Amino acid sequence: MATAPDSLALSPRQLSSPMRIVFLGPPGAGKGTQAQRLEKYLQVAHLSTGEMLRRAHEAGTPLGQEAACYMNAGQLVPDDIVVGVVVDRLTEKDCERGCLFDGFPRTVPQAEALDRLLADRKIPLDLVIALNVSESLLVERLLSRGRVDDDPETIRERFRQYHQLTQPLLNYYSTRGVLRQITAEGTPDEVFGKIRSIIDAAR
Ligand code: AMP
Repeated sequence: MATAPDSLALSPRQLSSPMRIVFLGPPGAGKGTQAQRLEKYLQVAHLSTGEMLRRAHEAGTPLGQEAACYMNAGQLVPDDIVVGVVVDRLTEKDCERGCLFDGFPRTVPQAEALDRLLADRKIPLDLVIALNVSESLLVERLLSRGRVDDDPETIRERFRQYHQLTQPLLNYYSTRGVLRQITAEGTPDEVFGKIRSIIDAAR
């Protein structure tokens, strides 16, 4: 009999030690899709910096307007803005249950800031899960998504920024022993199965 994904949520005993997990991957790798599933599975807070910045823009805040200039050009938003958004979000109560960082950190200075934020709170970073997808499939996925920053020119810039600024994080986290890499080219269910195995093994 098919089991509904929600019923796979962990028991209260399994939830007793909150996890902090980073999802790393290029644009279109499926970080958001997988983070939503893992959020339900682990019942942790889901911190998508992209979503937070888009919401700030929709709300018309000065920070949101500044961020939108970078986002619409396919560029990363400056570290101080993004780190500020994360610092604020981490003070919210739901983060005590653990959190899932989706699209953060994206640069080495952001990763260093996250290390400091967690160290200040005496909490470890448990896992960094890197989603690997071939560039042709990434482009296909992004073009079918149709977001404002998903036109061909902006996509090219986002990849350039990823290779230059975000990819060094693979080495950063590999040397810290928390990095797990998966091929994320199957169906969302298949990819989530791989992620769940990693999570279950780490608990
Ligand atoms: P995402 O929804 O994660 O694909 O992010 C959309 C856009 O928001 C990115 O292309 C960046 O312009 C911006 N953004 C999101 N997270 C970050 C981050 N951690 N650092 C810098 N820019 C970010």
